[in-house]
Amino acid sequence: MAAAISVQQLAVSFRSRGGTVAALQPLDLEVAPGCILGVLGPNGSGKTTLLRVLAGLQAPTQGRAELLGLPPTHPRQRQQVGYQPEGSLPFGVLSAPEFLAYAGATLGLPNDTADARAALWLDRLELRHAGRRPVRTFSTGMRKRLALAAALLAEPRVLLLDEPTAGLDPLGSAVVMDVLRERRTAGTTVLLASHHLLEIEELCDEVVVLQDGALRLRGTLAELLGTDADALVVRGLSAEGLQRLSATAEELGGTVLRVARERQHLFALFRRLAAPQLATPPLATGAAAAQKFPGQRTDQQP
Ligand code: ADP
Repeated sequence: MAAAISVQQLAVSFRSRGGTVAALQPLDLEVAPGCILGVLGPNGSGKTTLLRVLAGLQAPTQGRAELLGLPPTHPRQRQQVGYQPEGSLPFGVLSAPEFLAYAGATLGLPNDTADARAALWLDRLELRHAGRRPVRTFSTGMRKRLALAAALLAEPRVLLLDEPTAGLDPLGSAVVMDVLRERRTAGTTVLLASHHLLEIEELCDEVVVLQDGALRLRGTLAELLGTDADALVVRGLSAEGLQRLSATAEELGGTVLRVARERQHLFALFRRLAAPQLATPPLATGAAAAQKFPGQRTDQQP
């Protein structure tokens, strides 16, 4: 199958008063359709430059890039490729629906199509409550989600996302991650530059690591991290039961790695407090948590 994104010997350098900066060194990269590729690397490693070249906003100094078989600046890419830049949004005086109407016009979408999709994404990305408020009054998370809505408006087959969850609270990040999973199921190819390693781990099929503009590492998560061995997780045993189970495991050639007290993750607690109607089963530490957070729903208490 032809690659959705193909980059050959792509390099970008910037001239400044201090000399020349090699933002990207000659780079080869192919991304399969429907893949979510995480782009990792420290600040200044070239992630944004790579995304800007693919979005047609930065000309390469050498080499070439193609998305869906066409160069980044081909007019068809306006609707085929969605780009969410890292920085702040322009036109802060517009409301979210006005901003998306403007984005739709820029993308060449008919008004009614743009309006219908804008309504859908404002709901899905939980921006409906902002009503007619100007974008400049939005929180960082709301701006990020609006920028993502704009990138999704044309139903692009390739999405280029620069730090889409930076500054979002955990629930906002979870919504964005759900949307990206849905896009992958729909066959969209996603390039995701992020510093959120846990999100990258949860979401991405493959990752590349850039450093000083050069591609240092590429692979699937299983290749890079190794495959987890099968493990048995049990709960509810007495101390004696645990001892017997551990002994049996050793007898059968297994290794008992650790016996740990079950912990709840902070995310589950946060989600429960912020949106009790979405809450998953009661927290094991619910009574203690309820003492610390007296405002939370107390459906696990007598
Ligand atoms: P990242 O997104 O990984 O933080 P960037 O792609 O933004 O990295 O930057 C890569 C390098 O290119 C950095 O050294 C940065 O300072 C430099 N750079 C990026 N854009 C410009 C520009 N317009 N002019 C000069 N240098 C730039």
